[in-house]
Amino acid sequence: MKANENYLNVKESYLFSDIAKRVNNFMEENPDKKDKVIRLGIGDVTLPLAPVVVEAMTKAVAEMGVKETFRGYGPEQGYDFLRNKIVEYYKKNIISIEADEVFISDGAKSDVGNITDLFDKENTVMIPDPVYPVYVDTNIMNGRKIIFLNATDENDFCPTPIGEKADIIYLCSPNNPTGAVYTKEKLRQWVDYALANDAVILFDAAYELFITEDNLPRSIYEIDGAKRCAIEFCSLSKTAGFTGTRCGYTIVPHDLKVKRSKLLGRKGDGDISLNKMWLRRQTTKFNGVSYIVQRGAEAVFTEEGQKQIRENLGYYQQNAKVIADTMTELGIEFAGGINSPYIWLKCPNHMGSWEFFDYLLENIMVVGTPGAGFGKNGEGYFRLTSFGDKDKTIEAMKRFKALFSGSSEE
Ligand code: PLP
Repeated sequence: MKANENYLNVKESYLFSDIAKRVNNFMEENPDKKDKVIRLGIGDVTLPLAPVVVEAMTKAVAEMGVKETFRGYGPEQGYDFLRNKIVEYYKKNIISIEADEVFISDGAKSDVGNITDLFDKENTVMIPDPVYPVYVDTNIMNGRKIIFLNATDENDFCPTPIGEKADIIYLCSPNNPTGAVYTKEKLRQWVDYALANDAVILFDAAYELFITEDNLPRSIYEIDGAKRCAIEFCSLSKTAGFTGTRCGYTIVPHDLKVKRSKLLGRKGDGDISLNKMWLRRQTTKFNGVSYIVQRGAEAVFTEEGQKQIRENLGYYQQNAKVIADTMTELGIEFAGGINSPYIWLKCPNHMGSWEFFDYLLENIMVVGTPGAGFGKNGEGYFRLTSFGDKDKTIEAMKRFKALFSGSSEE
């Protein structure tokens, strides 16, 4: 047996364990300050599921306990009741998709990682830096060549095509960790690039519902031609509190075709449908999301469900505003926070990411995430999230003001 030694090339991720270690050490050394620590580093939601979701799931559990309504294996690609709801959801955004282009998943992470099954190892992959690490690590595991794109303040953290050619492009908008959002114009450049280069765009829209400003695209399919070159990944994790419940969906359009390799010398001609390949992949390796969870997800897309999840989003958006306003007041440069739950700030006084982490922890007991953990361009940056408790977020920002404006507000 030979192991897949590409795994040896995947960097160990110490980011969150390092953070936990430093916080624990601090609390041990300063037991009197232990209860004052405020965590604004987490990327997990803190509000519970919306009442309509709980109600739908409870009803589904009851159905599972009765012979007549019990369900065993469901369709691997998801129940029609949920796929149809997602079609309607897209229609409201004036995007027309078909139910069999929607694949229900147990979250965006699995699909973003598993989609690599469809692509040859010889493809070159383009990934912005800093980045959600799953794109990088899954491609390293497969042994693909990666070209990194610099996402910096010079390009508003939304890089556009560079001279080099790539076959697979990862875009995440609104972005984790930078909070930046692609404009339609910038996204169009990528769609044009992909169509011209026979490339595919893997578009991660896990935070689409955090977009509040008009005219910013919430789906890549708002760009003409995208159905011929893009797969879109969505998640109910952050938008509807499903991080623990697990549900997402992936759109693989029928128009998305890949040229058949002449080298294979296979019989038959015509292009290969990625929709068909993904269906084959999912029906072979995946057995679907539980009926109960899909009923809960269905409730998210009802009128009442949308109203309730937007209330929760409003809570996080208010936290984001409190953080963003504080940074503005203190003259600390940042991106995100308006159309995203993340605030990506430039560490003041040219501090490094970890240096700033320690500085905040020791002086005001606020925990965030060092940008360096998301790639080389993250050095010197720091991520704060709006997923925390409202009062704690306000308190953390008071402490920020006291620390950076020299006031004695605290
Ligand atoms: N995509 C991005 C950009 C994320 O930040 C996350 C989670 O933090 C995910 C996908 C994973 O989402 P899910 O919980 O649906 O697997």
